[in-house]
Amino acid sequence: MPNTREKLRIVIVGGVAGGASAATRARRVNAQAEITILEKGPVISFANCGLPYHLGGEIEQRDKLLVATAELFWNRFRIAVHTQHEVTSINREQQLISGCTGEGKTFELPYDRLILSTGSEPVRPPFFAANAKNVFQLWTLEDMDYILASLRERPVKKATVVGAGFVGLEVVEQLVRRGIEVTLVERDPQVLGALDCEMAKLIEGELRRQGVAVHLSASIDRLCYIDEAATSIVLASGDSIPTDLVIVGVGVRPRTGLAIDAGLTIGPSGGVRVNEFMQTDDPNIYAVGDMVEYRHGVLSQPMRIPLAGPANRAGRVAGAHAALGHESPFQAASGGQALSMGSVVGTCIVRVFDLTAGATGLNEKACRAAKIDYRVATIQGPHHASYFPGAKNLTLKLVYRAHDGKLLGAQAVGAAGCDKRLDVIATVLHFGGTVDDLSKLDLAYAPPFGAAKDPLHMAAFVSINDLRQLPRLVEFDAELEGLQIVDVRSAAEIAQLPLAGAICIPIDELAQRWTELDPQRPTVTVCHSGKRAHIAACWLNGQGFASVKNLNGGMSVRSLA
Ligand code: FAD
Repeated sequence: MPNTREKLRIVIVGGVAGGASAATRARRVNAQAEITILEKGPVISFANCGLPYHLGGEIEQRDKLLVATAELFWNRFRIAVHTQHEVTSINREQQLISGCTGEGKTFELPYDRLILSTGSEPVRPPFFAANAKNVFQLWTLEDMDYILASLRERPVKKATVVGAGFVGLEVVEQLVRRGIEVTLVERDPQVLGALDCEMAKLIEGELRRQGVAVHLSASIDRLCYIDEAATSIVLASGDSIPTDLVIVGVGVRPRTGLAIDAGLTIGPSGGVRVNEFMQTDDPNIYAVGDMVEYRHGVLSQPMRIPLAGPANRAGRVAGAHAALGHESPFQAASGGQALSMGSVVGTCIVRVFDLTAGATGLNEKACRAAKIDYRVATIQGPHHASYFPGAKNLTLKLVYRAHDGKLLGAQAVGAAGCDKRLDVIATVLHFGGTVDDLSKLDLAYAPPFGAAKDPLHMAAFVSINDLRQLPRLVEFDAELEGLQIVDVRSAAEIAQLPLAGAICIPIDELAQRWTELDPQRPTVTVCHSGKRAHIAACWLNGQGFASVKNLNGGMSVRSLA
């Protein structure tokens, strides 16, 4: 290694996901550098994603959340860690940071390279009273400890979770696990904003099935207190929800104050602007994690994506680049390609009791906002061969570009197998693939693991059929009045979930009875999930019907509208 790097001083601000990854990567590629982590909290490298699960006792030991200690960082990596050290300013001219310790002492530290990974902070809505005894947010280990202490101190029969995002739903699940009666209050008309409304309905149904009282489109007017303890939540509608404990999880904002004060550029989405090596517009200052904006892999636009995966990968990229200097030897070693961040598609997943929900890339809402001409296909199917014991139903929705089938995103909800499907689709998105590419993937199969035609293939086939008009799909919530609706479900299925105005011809009678239908009328075929309706649509097309479409996702999805 060149001598110029021997005394490279790398200072990292924030010692959890991005910061810890940056520090250890920097050490692995540069044994000589002086590496220091400054962390304002009491610990570094803790598993913030695991906090809800200790709250409910599923992760039994608190220690398990402490992934690595300051001692380990020093003993194994010779990385100096200073906890309770908050950095308050950056002097870019002198390459010097200054700050304050937990005991109120000030400190200064020079740097050659500075890596910022200060994360994000939870949004505090106006009704949030910081001095309340039983109103909490869950963002740090200390937050979790406060909540647990409160649960120990006073009996909690009823809890209210405000916000139905990922963290909110994890908290709901874990409070129910503790035997607490939980109410969920969400301002939007649906839970899990990362999903489109009909997919989110499946999760809402699971919450209700588990006994959670779900209030949607419900904003909070105020909290009522007795002795600094909230005793009820008053909604704008006037309804009052009695409660012993409140946990608020209504979103996060990037912690960019330090970067803004230092004059670093903030991008259009509110995160620090960085290049592919995670350098800010000051080449000696890097930024990673929740505080930055990444290039979105589908939109090719800068976007904030506050998730642990990108933060860890970005930390690794920044650590290597900072530690190797700006002329990376990796560049030569890897055939001219420098280690770079690449794009992020926001792949996310959450378990909600017996269901899993997740998304990757763009959903319909995001496509509309970006004015993309898109189409969707939704399928339902068993997560592995239906005849093999334990098969569980999975709903998979693909979003793709209308003119060429380029995959734009996907959502999955089911009792098993969602993670695998989302990850495969995230991979296709990474490579800019189409639904046609998805249909051609050679995936592992044996009955306990998947299906010879995996749900991924099935969703791709449906999308391709839609694009080639073999037949076209019609949106699950489309107005069907005036159309000839042909319902090919069995009489028993129709009795359970009737569809007004439909002509009912069970699929196995269609070849015999199709002449009862008017071939000139625009027709839509319907069944439970779209599979039998597809067969029916193909048959009617083959008989010369003028226009036949298949209801996307069938009645199983339409009934969610
Ligand atoms: P963080 O990991 O938050 O680290 C930032 C650190 O910087 C903090 O420790 C902070 O104290 C410190 N800091 C801030 N300012 C200063 C300063 N001025 N001086 C010194 N130190 C400072 N993501 C997922 O992908 N999947 C999940 O399942 C998931 N679950 C989550 C559950 C919970 C309860 C929480 C809170 C988050 C979860 N996340 C999850 C989000 C994920 O944890 C974050 O995206 C990730 O930690 C961001 O990494 P980061 O390095 O940017 O910030």
